[in-house]
Amino acid sequence: MIPMLDLKKEYELLRDEITSAIESVMAHQQWINGPEVKKFEEAISTFLGVKYAVGVNSGTDALVIALRSVCYKLRKEQRFKGEDEIITTPFTFTATGETILRSGATCVFADIDEDYNISPESIKKSITKKTIGILAVHLYGNPAKMDEINRIARENNLFVIEDVAQAFGSKIGDRYTGTLSDAGAFSFFPSKNLGAFGDGGMVVSNSDEIKNFSTYLRNHGGRDKYNVEFEGYNSRLDTIQAAILLVKLGHIKDFIERRRAVANRYKEGLKDISLLKMPEEREGGLHTYHQFTIRVLENKRDRLAELLKKNEISTMVYYPVLLNRMKVFEGRSRVYDELKNSDRFSKEVISLPIGPQQSMETTDKIIDAIRKVAREL
Ligand SMILES: *Cc1c(COP(=O)(O)O)cnc(C)c1O
Repeated sequence: MIPMLDLKKEYELLRDEITSAIESVMAHQQWINGPEVKKFEEAISTFLGVKYAVGVNSGTDALVIALRSVCYKLRKEQRFKGEDEIITTPFTFTATGETILRSGATCVFADIDEDYNISPESIKKSITKKTIGILAVHLYGNPAKMDEINRIARENNLFVIEDVAQAFGSKIGDRYTGTLSDAGAFSFFPSKNLGAFGDGGMVVSNSDEIKNFSTYLRNHGGRDKYNVEFEGYNSRLDTIQAAILLVKLGHIKDFIERRRAVANRYKEGLKDISLLKMPEEREGGLHTYHQFTIRVLENKRDRLAELLKKNEISTMVYYPVLLNRMKVFEGRSRVYDELKNSDRFSKEVISLPIGPQQSMETTDKIIDAIRKVAREL
């Protein structure tokens, strides 16, 4: 079976570098807040061109901590109020919406555009007197329309946070996603563009206040053990994960180029199949193809998945269920606009195998299989 992502191949490639990084952590035994954590935070802020990077335990925690830090910066309060509305997309991983709830606010779900990211037009229709901010997601590694989102935010006095879990290394112009708003929240879940050997995350920001509050929250909410002011978390980035991530960061540009090469091969090989809609790149935006997601028209998506499975090719649907249809959001979310594209695309999308180590040979095999089964659809 061809997997969605072949992490074993990547490990083989980096084995020596990673082994020696892990060994040096084992030698110094500073598992929590060891020197590699600080080194990795500095490497990330240099790489992205952002003032501060605060390592945390997961992408989910990075989102909660970023949201609460923005709240503290704006209001000197630890959490938002239930009446506060934050606009986001329903077509994303649960954590995006879940963390809005955990920050105390109510989710407002706006529709998406053809690029699968939140629609600025729909954001405008979703603004009320209670709106306080926007949580934009760069889905599949494709940068959201940050210029327009930031313009709307400025005009309406809203904050903006980026969920960059799927988009490490993506850019708009020469600026990296995650650095285009008040704060960016990254995930280092193993399958992400920059993946650890377990959970990990990062809050990035140019604001001193956001950096300080994030640093408190990740460590039980205090400056130190006996000066605890806020209700915090145990949400530190493990030293061993930071050491592994430092190794992987050294290869990230090459890995992103490889992902892009696989994506371009797919697009070239499948472009004439009218039933399939290829992902498009926006002018000036660098897509990192965390996922290579296509749409299958005429209700044929599930049939295509079935036929590819028979040909030993994995596929996944991200995301078959919109957040506004999940029970956890009942009574804690609102929808002011029609979610037409979200509804439609959740029934049409399918993601194909992709990764930096996926060979062109494997990619061609998948293309050939799709071309063959497309005739049976
Ligand atoms: C993976 C992901 C998260 C959560 O990251 P974790 O590290 O798994 O907690 C949040 N948002 C999106 C869009 C994701 O893909």
